[in-house]
Amino acid sequence: MLPETVLAQAAAEMTDWHGCRMSVMELSHRGREFDTIIRRAQDDLRELLEIPVSYRILFMQGGATAMNAIVPMNLVNRPGSNSTLDFVHTGVWSGKSLDEAGKYGKVNIAASSREDRFLSVPAQKRWQTTDNAAYIHVCTNETINGNQFHFTPDTGTVPLVADMSSEILSRPVDFSKYGVIFAGAQKNLGPAGVTILVVREDLIGYAVPFCPSVFDWQNVAENNSMFNTPPTYAIYICGLVFRWMKKRGGVLRMEQESIEKSSMLYDFIDHSGFYRNEVSIESRSRMNVPFFLEDESLNDEFVAEAAKNGLLQLKGHRLTGGMRASLYNAMPIEGVEALVAFMRAFEQKH
Ligand SMILES: *Cc1c(COP(=O)(O)O)cnc(C)c1O
Repeated sequence: MLPETVLAQAAAEMTDWHGCRMSVMELSHRGREFDTIIRRAQDDLRELLEIPVSYRILFMQGGATAMNAIVPMNLVNRPGSNSTLDFVHTGVWSGKSLDEAGKYGKVNIAASSREDRFLSVPAQKRWQTTDNAAYIHVCTNETINGNQFHFTPDTGTVPLVADMSSEILSRPVDFSKYGVIFAGAQKNLGPAGVTILVVREDLIGYAVPFCPSVFDWQNVAENNSMFNTPPTYAIYICGLVFRWMKKRGGVLRMEQESIEKSSMLYDFIDHSGFYRNEVSIESRSRMNVPFFLEDESLNDEFVAEAAKNGLLQLKGHRLTGGMRASLYNAMPIEGVEALVAFMRAFEQKH
């Protein structure tokens, strides 16, 4: 979901950006106008997340899925490491990451909640990590399984890599604990097509020789994310979202709202005998709330009736079934109130 004001502004500027008589889509990525757009987006993101100067912000392509290969290609040869890639397996997305990483190095699953159907995030004291691993990968919010880290791991000198695709900008990030964070834009930031990568400078420069140049962080960083033509329109919309967020009070406001929105929904579900959420309370996601109807034969009717009430995209992921409500940054509290009111009425009706 994107903020309505951002979509309206993009529509108003569609054919003529700031009097330049071209659409952002028509601008040269090497021109002064686009340079303004990308710099501003970078500066605003740095300000919003308080990203230290020792970290580079890169706009890349291929989605978070490409990052599953790009990260190991850039880090497996990191000097001083033994090329083992440690993973914490908490759901579908960290599972895809570790599957892909196996092409580039030796994967060690340091911890997994698979036995628990991914209904929790393993506490760090239970992780069996490798000394001198090239990095440790976590997915801080599992979009499909609906679990989320509510602690920041401390991995010492081993760089912590985090896929934050579905939670970025919903809460502050303690960069002193992370080497790399990345996020496909389309969940919580902007349109599909751009991936945000924030990487500590000392982790740049070790890509394997067969790494495609366009995925080598050093190339991307040296060319200010313009080694090849970047996804200009997607970056522009992300920039508008950053502005919107700054005006609304930044990441702390987003965090406060996401706590409010998700608690409202979980409270309602937990007090109902008609719906249930199975994720353990300390690992529940504030962004993606999967839930099930006790009577699954009502699923189709639930989705159809919800749509009639303006509540869209509630059908759960095909891997999990049931329902899922995504409460991304742009979702107003009124949206959750409307959902809960609908769920209550549907329960009463049945
Ligand atoms: C959606 C998602 C991905 C995959 O993103 P693509 O842009 O489709 O590659 C990866 N990780 C997480 C956590 C996601 O939510």
